Parts: sequence; C-alpha cells; structure tokens
Amino acid sequence: MTGGLAGILKAKDIPFVEHAETASLSTFRIGGSCRYLITPRCEGELIAALDAILGAGLSYLIVGRGSNLLFDDGEMPLAVLRTTQIDAVRRVGEGLFSVDCGASLPRLSRLTCRQGYLDLAFAAGIPGTVGGGVLMNAGAHGGSLSDVVKSVKALHIASGKITTLFNEQLAFSYRNSAFQHDKWLILRAELSLSSHATAVDAEALRRKLLAHRAATQPLDFPSAGSAFRRPADGTPLGKLFEELGLKGLRVGGAAVSRKHAGFIVNEGGATARDVRALVAKIQDITEAKCGFRPQPEIRFASER
Ligand SMILES: Cc1cc2nc3c(=O)[nH]c(=O)nc-3n(C[C@H](O)[C@H](O)[C@H](O)COP(=O)(O)OP(=O)(O)OC[C@H]3O[C@@H](n4cnc5c(N)ncnc54)[C@H](O)[C@@H]3O)c2cc1C
Repeated sequence: MTGGLAGILKAKDIPFVEHAETASLSTFRIGGSCRYLITPRCEGELIAALDAILGAGLSYLIVGRGSNLLFDDGEMPLAVLRTTQIDAVRRVGEGLFSVDCGASLPRLSRLTCRQGYLDLAFAAGIPGTVGGGVLMNAGAHGGSLSDVVKSVKALHIASGKITTLFNEQLAFSYRNSAFQHDKWLILRAELSLSSHATAVDAEALRRKLLAHRAATQPLDFPSAGSAFRRPADGTPLGKLFEELGLKGLRVGGAAVSRKHAGFIVNEGGATARDVRALVAKIQDITEAKCGFRPQPEIRFASER
C-alpha cells in the first residue's frame, strides 16, 4: 500500500524524495534515512500530504528545523513531513502577526525587533520553527512562546478537524503544551506583541541575547540544545552536571559539552546509539548521586 504514496504525491505535485538521509534534517547532524521525505510548499499541500500518508497506512513524523530531535541510525520506515518551506510571516494588525508553522524563530525575532517589538527578542537564538516552538513552548531569557501566542490553527489528526485553539486552551507550561499530549498538525499561529521599543533598542537587545548565547553555549558543535528538561524544583541542570564532573563525559562521538554541561554535542561521527547511551549514563549518575532521574528534552524520532 505504501508504494501508492509516491503515486499520490506525484499526482498532487507535492515535492518528495524516497530513501532520504535524515542527518541533514536535524541540528544534531545524526541520522540514517527515512522512507519518504516530503516538503510541502503551502498549507494545502501539507494537509494533502498528511492525508495521503495516513491513507497509505504509513508512520509519519512532522519535522520543523529538527533542532530538538534525534533521528535513528538506520532506515526509519517513516514519511517525514518537513514544514520549513511554509514560512510566511504576515502582519495582520497592530502588534498582531499570523505566522506559518515552518517560519523560523530567529527570522521572526529579527523581523519583529526591527519593527520595534521586544516580545520575541528572546527567540533570536532558538533555531526552530513556529510549529516546533509552539509544541515545545520554546523559551529563553525569561520569555516563552506562551507569552505571545494568541491562538493556533491546527489539524487534529485523529478526527481530521481543523480548529483554532486559543492560548488558554493550550495548557502551556515549562517546555510543554497540549500539542505534546495528542496528535496534532500545527498549521499556523497568531501572535500578539505588545512590548514596544524603538527598532534600534529592540535590535540591540536581540544582538545582546545572541552574544550571550555565543559566549555560553557550544554553538560550534552540532547539538539539539539543552538535552534535559529542568526539573520541577528549577535546579539548573547545566550547573548540576558540571558539579557532578560530567563535562567531557562521552560515548563514541557524543559528549557532554565542556562549555555548557546541559548540552550533548556531536563532536564528530556521533550516532543516535551514542547519544542514547550517553543520555542513560547521565541519568544513572544523576540518580545515584542526587536521587532523581533527569528527563530528556530532546525528542526521539522513533517515539513520536
Ligand atoms: C543550539 C540550540 C539552542 C537551543 N536553545 C533553545 C532555547 O533557548 N530554548 C528552547 O526552548 N529550545 C532551545 N533549543 C531547542 C529547539 O530549538 C526548540 O525546541 C525548537 O522550538 C524546536 O523547533 P523545531 O522546528 O526545530 O522542532 P523539531 O525539532 O523539528 O520538532 C520538535 C517536535 O515538534 C514537533 N513538530 C514540529 N513542527 C510541528 C508542527 N507543525 N505540527 C506538529 N508538531 C510539530 C515534532 O514532531 C517534534 O516532536 C535549542 C536548540 C539548539 C540546537
């Protein structure tokens, strides 16, 4: 039945390739391949592609910039639906922006700061998309997407219904949203920005936050950002892992960054198996010494 998917995508003129390599779809630069890589160019194609995948009975994975994602090493029997070509940002009112799921957060941050809004300066260095960012409730420097999302238009995959959900319906909390607890395709979001400044001041703040990141994070190595979620009591894990002597701990090509112990970095040739083994090692050491098991923030493609 899955053989029919290529025919349907071709008939609908939706771009795809078969047996695509996945490492370049993730900021970790780790992966194997996937059965199909589909790259729709608009919302209509995105919905039609998902419909075709479901009709073919194939497993799927929705991917933005892959900046919080670890693909498996071998071939995954998956159709990967990549949103990055669907990236329009429209100003629809005073402080109101309608943004497509594949729009890049750094670009959105730059665009809105240059229009004199401070609200999204925090997102300048978060290398994801609006869809991944909303699902993760991405945030930094005291801000998060839940502060600016007014509503989200999404397709509920089980029922096939497209709905607009308002902020208070989205159960946002630290790196969490309702979208993590059911299967949804996030199509676009409406953002409401209210913190005004001059374009010069907003841009200066954005650049300052980017410089802070460059000074404190291992941006010279591929990674998926913070590997673990901060625990409920707020313990900063990077600092804790440093105190536990984990900096430099490695399995194969994957290592705990020496610059920021909260990051697992690919120092060259790391496999998904290396990363998983390192995650387990860090969990075991932390549990033995501190009595709790840190939970990964990284999402594993095989578990989606
Ligand atoms: C160097 C670096 C720094 C980082 N710093 C931060 C930080 O400061 N704060 C922070 O919060 N995160 C940070 N991250 C992590 C990451 O950038 C964010 O989690 C980001 O929001 C993920 O977006 P993405 O498009 O890359 O999502 P992906 O990694 O592609 O996907 C993440 C999840 O969202 C799902 N998804 C993606 N798009 C959709 C959609 N349209 N509909 C439904 N589901 C979807 C995927 O299936 C997956 O489960 C960092 C990562 C890196 C590499």
